[in-house]
Amino acid sequence: MDIKKKDIRALTKEQLRDFFVIEGDQAFRGNQVYEWLWSKGAHSFEDMTNVSKETREMLKSNFVINHIKVDQIQKSNDGTIKNAVRLHDGLIVESVLIPAKNRTTACVSSQVGCSLDCRFCATSRLKRMRNLNPDEIYDQVVVIDKESRLYHNRPLSNIVFMGMGEPLMNYNNVLKAIDKITSPEGLAMSPKRIVVSTSGVPKMIKKMADDEVKFKLAVSLHSAIDEIRTSIMPFNATFPLADLREALEYWYEKTKNRITYEYIVWDGINDTKNDVEALIKFCKFAPSKVNLIEYNPIDDGEFQQASSKAIDMYVDMLEANNITVTVRRSRGKDIDAACGQLANKA
Ligand code: SAH
Repeated sequence: MDIKKKDIRALTKEQLRDFFVIEGDQAFRGNQVYEWLWSKGAHSFEDMTNVSKETREMLKSNFVINHIKVDQIQKSNDGTIKNAVRLHDGLIVESVLIPAKNRTTACVSSQVGCSLDCRFCATSRLKRMRNLNPDEIYDQVVVIDKESRLYHNRPLSNIVFMGMGEPLMNYNNVLKAIDKITSPEGLAMSPKRIVVSTSGVPKMIKKMADDEVKFKLAVSLHSAIDEIRTSIMPFNATFPLADLREALEYWYEKTKNRITYEYIVWDGINDTKNDVEALIKFCKFAPSKVNLIEYNPIDDGEFQQASSKAIDMYVDMLEANNITVTVRRSRGKDIDAACGQLANKA
């Protein structure tokens, strides 16, 4: 890679149009190249067949296209596919295709590693190396869309930001990627089919509300009692539940969007009636949905999935309080592709 050359996909369409004008060409050439780069997903300047050879050479001497490369594909017995994706600087992230009856979901990463320290999550063991660029996030989606068409004969239908990293700590780039994913010049997907999952960064949740984003929000709560939440998600000491709750109230006021909570019930950690009561109290202020997610063990055995009796107690008590609850089974466990198992082990 020539480090002196700029990544052409860091340019906006306007900048690309201006570049051609400065080069003595016409602005519309910028539109053509932009379309190749984004909706057509060109990996090289040679692919741009309606652009003259001289122009392609000129582009090549000025720019590079830092496209991601799928390093390894693993397929699970249940149809889940995990991609290990190599970035232009050699770092690796993972993204997952999750097929279900009526949908195909892409689970994408937003950072290389993660700076949070959730004790039950494999990614937290990897140091956060850097944020992903918008195009690196976008490319993961394009790859999974292609795989969905190839292996499941249908396009990708949903996206969840539940891969590696904390999306709200790379907010600007995540937003730019979603803009591209939802734009007619990109994949033209509906923002309603995109979920950004966060451990809960209050300031950024408020910013999302102010920005009037159209995608959905999920909060990884796991406990509504500060002491317990801090013991499993130590960053809760910095962003305690009261601040998170205040930000979510702000979010609901502005967007009127239901809030989804991701919640794992562990044996001996958050499996008592008291824990459920705290959860109900925490989320009652707005229409809420609680996804009780299955725990995917990450080898040291410190955390154990709670008994089905405890899960049933959660379901019964939440329903009795008119809170929607679902019990979600994990996919792709045999290839370490399930939630919290992404750790570049392959
Ligand atoms: N940082 C973001 C997104 C990545 S984690 C967030 O925290 O939401 C995506 C989801 O996987 C979160 O709900 C997280 O709590 C959950 N998760 C992490 N480790 C897990 C594990 N071992 N088993 C099941 N879910 C896990």
